[in-house]
Amino acid sequence: MDECPRCQGSLEMLSLGDASTVTCPHCEYADIPVEHERQVEEPESWQTAFNRFYRSQKPQSDE
Ligand SMILES: [Zn+2]
Repeated sequence: MDECPRCQGSLEMLSLGDASTVTCPHCEYADIPVEHERQVEEPESWQTAFNRFYRSQKPQSDE
């Protein structure tokens, strides 16, 4: 699957630890093909998690 079901744009693969997912940079849709996690949660929750993850990856931070 590399086409956004929401806007038909190109999806982008993301990895978070040993989990991976695809997101749409156009409409911020996020697909959650996790296997070892519990039930799929709200896309917003994952979006927040990814945002926090990427922010923590950056060496330059105010925190
Ligand atoms: Zn999209």
